[in-house]
Amino acid sequence: MTTSGKDILDELVTANHILGNEGVVDVFGHVSVRDPQQPDRYFLSCSRSPELVQRSDIMQFTLDSKPIGNDEREAYIERFIHGAIYEARQDVNAVIHSHTDDVLPFTISDRPLGAVMPPAAKIGSRVPVWDIDAHFGDGTDMLVRNHEFGTDLAKTLADGSAVLMRGHGFAVAGSSLAEAVQIAVFLPRNAKILWQALQMGAVKCLSEAEVAVLRKGRGSPRAWEYWAQRAER
Ligand SMILES: [Zn+2]
Repeated sequence: MTTSGKDILDELVTANHILGNEGVVDVFGHVSVRDPQQPDRYFLSCSRSPELVQRSDIMQFTLDSKPIGNDEREAYIERFIHGAIYEARQDVNAVIHSHTDDVLPFTISDRPLGAVMPPAAKIGSRVPVWDIDAHFGDGTDMLVRNHEFGTDLAKTLADGSAVLMRGHGFAVAGSSLAEAVQIAVFLPRNAKILWQALQMGAVKCLSEAEVAVLRKGRGSPRAWEYWAQRAER
């Protein structure tokens, strides 16, 4: 997928606005992009609600999530999610973190979240759940507030596109901003549909074979164009 024409910082601003407008993030949540010129760095807004982010808000970080230069603006506490995933996954160029309500039931119950429809196929047939308690014990504030927590989260993500976080939300990893945004928009919708279907009885999710075929697709550039125009209207 390409969204070309604009530079990567403009695309990152647009991604922030799309995610806010589509209800994937609200006050909280964030999206980053790997620096195409320096792959050991990434771009992420200072601590602002995504829908309000402007180009001048963008900061640059090392992969252990230290700000570049003497930038003293307040950074997102959970920026370590981004740096640790970029460090673990050379194929990932965009990361999103969200607290969307529709996903939360699947982070605190035994019911696995799997793709039920083609647009959500990249989440896979069973999205792994990261539990901060498993390695860091009872008594954290649940936030990914250091690089060690982020590295552990990235291990649970493994080579997938999405990871749930117990009682908290999810993180998505994509090869581009457009791909990550598409996954992050459809993941909560997929969760809501699955939840609704479970109220009706037995459900049939996409099979592993269906997911494997659909995951090879690169997504539709129409999605980014449509969401971007809606967001900037
Ligand atoms: Zn969070």
